[in-house]
Amino acid sequence: MNHFPVFLELRDRPVLVVGGTAMAARRCKATLTAGAKVRVVAHDLSPAFDDCSGFTHEARDFRPDDIDGAQLVFVATDDEDTGVQVSALAHERGVPVNVADRRHLCSFIMPSIVDRSPVIVAVSSGGEAPILSRLLRSRLETWVPRRFGRLAQFAGDCRERVKAAIPDITRRRRFWETIVDGSVAEYILAGQSDDAGRLLEQTLAAASDDRDAPLTGEVYLVGAGPGDPDLLTFRALRLMQQADVVLHDRLVDDAVLDLVRRDAERVYVGKRRGDHELPQDLISQTLVDLAKQGKRVLRLKGGDPFTFGRGGEEIEALASHGIPFQVVPGISAANGCAAYAGIPLTHRDHAQACIFVTGHTKDGKLSLNWDSLVQPNQTVVVFMGLGAIATITRELIAHGADADLPAAVVDNATRDSQQVITGTLDNIAARVEQAELDGPAILVVGTVVRLREQLSWFKTEGL
Ligand code: SAH
Repeated sequence: MNHFPVFLELRDRPVLVVGGTAMAARRCKATLTAGAKVRVVAHDLSPAFDDCSGFTHEARDFRPDDIDGAQLVFVATDDEDTGVQVSALAHERGVPVNVADRRHLCSFIMPSIVDRSPVIVAVSSGGEAPILSRLLRSRLETWVPRRFGRLAQFAGDCRERVKAAIPDITRRRRFWETIVDGSVAEYILAGQSDDAGRLLEQTLAAASDDRDAPLTGEVYLVGAGPGDPDLLTFRALRLMQQADVVLHDRLVDDAVLDLVRRDAERVYVGKRRGDHELPQDLISQTLVDLAKQGKRVLRLKGGDPFTFGRGGEEIEALASHGIPFQVVPGISAANGCAAYAGIPLTHRDHAQACIFVTGHTKDGKLSLNWDSLVQPNQTVVVFMGLGAIATITRELIAHGADADLPAAVVDNATRDSQQVITGTLDNIAARVEQAELDGPAILVVGTVVRLREQLSWFKTEGL
C-alpha cells in the first residue's frame, strides 16, 4: 500500500489554500463542505470561486507564517516556485500538503469520491492512473443508491435504541442485516421515511421479544475455487459476506479470503508445509460446535468441496447433529488447470474419458488401480500427486503406458504464480524436481496435453 487512507475531521479547523485557480476553487469548496475554516491566499480568484461561500480571501503573496496552525495546505497556482516553497515549508513543519498536479511535492493525495454523506467512498490509484479511479468512481456512483446516506443516518439515529433492545451482538448483527437489506431500507431509499420508521419499530419489538429464543446457526460448505477470486460463484460470494466465522485451509488463496466479511472471525485449520493438519474429526466437530452457538459458519474449501475435499465427511457430522447446511460447488483445481493451462481434458479426438485420482500416499504406499489408468483414449488427472510423481509415472509405464505419453504438471493453477511443466511420462518427474515448485500442483497425463501448444497460441493472441 503506497498511501494510507484516512478520513479527516475538518469541522472548524483551519485550512490554507494557496492560489486562485479553478483547481484551488475546487479544493476550497470541498474543504468548506467538510466544515473547515478556509483561508485563500492569492492575488486573483478564478470565477470558479463564485461557487464557494464562507471562506476568507487575502489578496497578496504567500508568506511562510500562513502555514501556522493550518491542518491542511493546498497549493494550486500557476507559479511553480510557490509550490516548491510551500511544500518544503509544510514538510518541515509536519503539516500535510497537496500541490496540484505535482505529486512529488505532495505528502497526501486527493481521492475521487462518491459522497452519500455520512457514507463516503474514496477511490485512489495512488496517483498512477487518475483516469482509472475516475472510472471506478463513476461506476460506484451508479451502484450506490442516491439516498444511501439517508439510510446510514437512519441507522445511526436508532443505533443506541437497538443496542439496548437487543444486547446480544450476534442477534443484533442479524437484526441490522434484515434492516439494511430488507423492506426498511427499501422504504428509505424510496424516500418513505415514515413507513421505514414504523416497520423498524415493529421489527425491533419482535426481535426484542425473541431475544432469549435459541439462535439457529448453520454451515455453508463453500468451494473457493483454485485461486483466482474471479472464479468464485455468486452464491459463494454472498455467503462469504454473511458468515460470522470462517474456517479455511492452506488451499484457499489470500485473495479469496479477502472477500470474506471483514469482521468475521477467521480460524485456520489447514496444513502448512511440514505441519500437521487439524484432524478431520476435529474440524467437523468445530463446525458443529460453532453452529450450535448460533453462528453462521463458512467452511471455505479449495476448489470444489466434493472433489477430494472431504466435504462429505463434514456434512455427515452436521447431518448427524441436525445442523442445517448448504453446499456450494466450486471450480475444481482440475478444471482450473485445464482452462488456464490450455489442456482440454476430454477433447474428442483424444479422450473419451477423464479419470480423477488422488496420488496421496498412506504409509508411503499408493493404492491405485493402475490397469484402469493406462487404458487408451483417456486423460488421467492426479490430485495431490506431486510428492509421489516419480512412483506414479514409473508404475504407469510398468503397467503398459507408453513412456512417450505426454504429461503436464500445473502448479499454482489460475494464480499469478502459475507454472506449467510439460514432458512425457519418463521425464516429467525429473523436470518437476528441477523446477522446485512450491504451490499445490496437479498432474495431467494423456495426449490432450499436446493440444496446449496450439491453444496457448489462442490465449496469448486473445489477451
Ligand atoms: N477440493 C480440491 C482438491 C483438494 S485436494 C479441488 O476441487 O480442487 C488438494 C490438491 O488439489 C492439491 O494437492 C493439488 O493437487 C490440487 N490443487 C488445489 N489447488 C490447486 C491449484 N491452484 N493448482 C494446482 N493444483 C491444485
